[in-house]
Amino acid sequence: MSEVSQMSVALPPQGDPSAPHGLALGSDTEVTLGVMGGGQLGRMFVHAAHRMGFFTAVLDPDPKSPAGRVSHHHVATAYTDPEGLQQLAQCCLAITTEFENVPAAALAALATSRTVSPGAAAVAIAQDRIQEKNHFGQCGVPCAPYAVIESAEQLAAVADDLLPGILKTARMGYDGKGQVRVSSREALASAWTALQGVPCVLEKMLPLQLECSVIVARGADGTCVNLPVQRNLHRDGILAVTEVTPEAVPQALAERAVAAARAIATQLQYVGVLCVEFFVLDPESPVGQALGGLVVNEMAPRPHNSGHYSLDACDVSQFDLQVRTLAGLPLTQPRQHSPAIMLNLLGDLWPAPNFAAVLALPGTHLHLYGKAQASKGRKMGHLTITGADPAQVRATALQAAALLGITPF
Ligand code: ATP
Ligand code: MG
Repeated sequence: MSEVSQMSVALPPQGDPSAPHGLALGSDTEVTLGVMGGGQLGRMFVHAAHRMGFFTAVLDPDPKSPAGRVSHHHVATAYTDPEGLQQLAQCCLAITTEFENVPAAALAALATSRTVSPGAAAVAIAQDRIQEKNHFGQCGVPCAPYAVIESAEQLAAVADDLLPGILKTARMGYDGKGQVRVSSREALASAWTALQGVPCVLEKMLPLQLECSVIVARGADGTCVNLPVQRNLHRDGILAVTEVTPEAVPQALAERAVAAARAIATQLQYVGVLCVEFFVLDPESPVGQALGGLVVNEMAPRPHNSGHYSLDACDVSQFDLQVRTLAGLPLTQPRQHSPAIMLNLLGDLWPAPNFAAVLALPGTHLHLYGKAQASKGRKMGHLTITGADPAQVRATALQAAALLGITPF
C-alpha cells in the first residue's frame, strides 16, 4: 500500500453531498468544492462552481496552473503529497478530478474523509486500457479487435489479422502519445521495444467513417443524463474540430452511442461526468459490417474537450453537470439550443492569432485558458461558433478557421 493510500484524516463533517439537495444553496455557510488538477478543464469547472456560489480549491503542483489562478484556494503540491491532500480535504466538502492520470491512490485517500466523485475505482479502470476494454466487454459494447501485450509470449502470439494495427500503451496515453502505428510483425516488435516493453494493447486499424463521443452525467441516486452526440475530427491524434448539429451523426447510430455510454456509466455505478468516445466504421467494409458499424474507443472519467461546446450551445454545460453531480444536486436532461462547431486553438496558431477578426463574426465564443507559453500541439483555448442554422454555423466556422490559419474541415 502506498504512503498516500494509508492517509486518512479525521475532519469535521460538512453535510452530506450525496443526499438529494445535500447542500443548502444560497445559505451563508461557505461551501468549497475541490478539484484534483489545475488545467483548462479544472478552470472551467471552477467557473461553473463560482456561478452557483461555491468556493473552490485546486490541487496542482504548477503555481501558475490555469485553474489554480482563478480558484479561491490553490494547493501547489504534488498529487501524491499527503500534506497537500490533507489541506485539500480540510477545506472541501467534496472533490472531483479533471484529468484521468491523477493517481487513483490519491483519490482513495481523499475518499476516507470526503465525498470524491468519480470514485477511485472507476478512475483506475479508465486509466488502464486493458481494464477499460474488459469493462466495455462486460457491458456488451464492442470495441476494436485487440490483443493484450504484456510479455514476449503474448507478442509472439498476436494474430496476423490484427495487423495493420496501433500499439497503445495501457497507461498514461493522451492526445495520441504512447501510440505507434505498425503494419508488420517486425514493426510491432520494435515498437514494443521502443515503448520499453510496458503493458500495451495492439488494436486492429479500423476503417473509420467518422468519430463521435457522448458525455453522460450520473448522480449518486442513479439519475443519468446526456449531452447530444458530438462528431469529432482528430488531426495528429489531437482533437481539432467538434461539430454538434442534427446532421453530424446519423440518428440511429447516435441513439446506439447514447445507449452504450449510459450502460457503461451505469455498470460502473459511476458518479460524475463521463465521456465515451466511439468510432463509426465504414459501412462498406467487411470489418465494419462484422462489428455492427459502431465500436467504443475509450472513456475519460471527467468532462472532455469534445464537450466544450456545451458552455455556449446548451442550457446546462458539462461543467454545470460536474458541479451538480459533485454537490448532490438534481440532474436534468440538457437541451442544446443552438447548433455548434468548436475549433481547438492549439499553440501552433501563436504568436499572433487574429482573434479580433474572429470576434467580428456573428456567434463566436472565444475561450482562452490563460496559459503563458504556447507550444506546438498545446491546447491554449477553443472557439465555439453558434447560430440559428447549421449551414450558417459551418460557414462562419470555416471563415474563422481561415482567419486563424486552421486547415478547413
Ligand atoms: P485522447 O487524447 O482522446 O485521450 P488517446 O491518446 O487516448 O487520445 P486514442 O483515442 O486511442 O488516443 O486514439 C487517437 C486517435 O487515433 C483516435 O481518435 C483515432 O482518430 C485514431 N485511432 C485510434 N485507434 C484507432 C483504431 N483502432 N483504428 C483507427 N484509428 C484509430
Ligand atoms: Mg481518444
